[in-house]
Amino acid sequence: MVTGHTKLLGIIGNPVEHSLSPAMQNAALTEMGLDFIYLPFSVASRDIEAALLGFEAVGVVGFNVTIPHKQAIVPYLAQQTEVAKAVGAVNTVLYRDGGWWGTNTDVAGFIAPLADPSWGDRTAVILGNGGAARAVVAGLTQLGCGTIHVVGRDQQKLTHFAESWQASSLGVQLTPHLWQSLPELLPQTHLLVNTTPVGMGPQGDRTPVSAEQLASLPQTSLVYDLIYTPRPTKLLQLAQNQGLQTLDGTEMLVQQGAAALALWTQSVTSKPVPVKTMRETLLAHLSC
Ligand code: NAP
Repeated sequence: MVTGHTKLLGIIGNPVEHSLSPAMQNAALTEMGLDFIYLPFSVASRDIEAALLGFEAVGVVGFNVTIPHKQAIVPYLAQQTEVAKAVGAVNTVLYRDGGWWGTNTDVAGFIAPLADPSWGDRTAVILGNGGAARAVVAGLTQLGCGTIHVVGRDQQKLTHFAESWQASSLGVQLTPHLWQSLPELLPQTHLLVNTTPVGMGPQGDRTPVSAEQLASLPQTSLVYDLIYTPRPTKLLQLAQNQGLQTLDGTEMLVQQGAAALALWTQSVTSKPVPVKTMRETLLAHLSC
């Protein structure tokens, strides 16, 4: 029940109506027994500053940021974590010490299902060089991944992507490649990550990598598609047909949300975030 004491959390984006975060976060808040509510706020790009002033005025505790504001929010923050600076994007904001503090929990979300094996002698190939690829590069660097290749379709964007890490404090080492180099990379690849939208939603019959190309991956490779709808994507179906290990984007979505909720609630409770409830809520909504 919403009361006069209820604390506010939310997500800003445009559009934001289809976000699954409110369902996932409110289910977790209920289970934690906290008098908080998490709401979706559709905010146009020109209104970011006004929204933040309003949030400050009404005492919003924190919020998530989604497309298209993950970069645009940065000038309005008093502080950012090193990982957010390196990624160049913020997806989680907390009001702290009289200002907005931002971080990027997509990085923790991406690596959460990968945490077990030793990555020092592994080679990863990342398809795409957009916003999500930046979180993946930061995450693989945190894991100590030995070799990171990034595959894109535009030489200028690829060069800019590679150069953008030079000033970062994370110590990122990567090699950019155009798409036509993919066949040479695949036989040495332990982890193939799709960060392109190819295969998402209405494009569900498309795959960024063909069955023939997937056949050249070592049999122990893991194919990780950040897309979470459809489940599985065509890419993951083809990989499964070849007996390869697969991961879709649902766990990343759950874990980035869990990391954000832990940050927002750590000053009022020591209860752990109920990740299982968040996962079950997300999967129930995805199967609707
Ligand atoms: P983005 O910034 O627009 O980047 C997309 C990248 O894919 C760009 O490098 C783009 O290349 C490339 N690309 C697009 N269409 C392509 C095609 N037909 N062939 C080859 N490359 C293509 O988008 P994003 O924010 O990184 O999101 C990418 C995907 O990750 C989306 O499907 C999103 O849902 C998913 N994602 C999932 C999670 C999660 O929690 N599971 C989190 C974030 C993102 P150009 O730059 O040359 O156009």
